[in-house]
Amino acid sequence: MKELFRERDFSRVGYCQSILEGEGIATVIRNEQLTGLTEFPIPDFFPALCVVNDEDHDRAIAILRDHLAADASAAEEEVDCGTCGEQNPGNFEVCWNCGGPVRI
Ligand SMILES: [Zn+2]
Repeated sequence: MKELFRERDFSRVGYCQSILEGEGIATVIRNEQLTGLTEFPIPDFFPALCVVNDEDHDRAIAILRDHLAADASAAEEEVDCGTCGEQNPGNFEVCWNCGGPVRI
């Protein structure tokens, strides 16, 4: 099992999971039961979307990137991750690539 990204907004994690399941990639969400445990945004407790099979990781990232890029270009600007420089949708608080905070 390999983590793809984590995100405070559970609906977004679920959305990404449905995209990947639609592509035939088995996924699991970790920390699902921890959502709402604390009112403070602690990335360690954010719902994390993971692929069940490690070999699906790269393909899953590519699929999500395509979908999210399409969503983002329709809605918001992309922002560069302050940690790894990867582009993220403008409403992401945590980088999908490295898990670090996205700074604008
Ligand atoms: Zn990053």
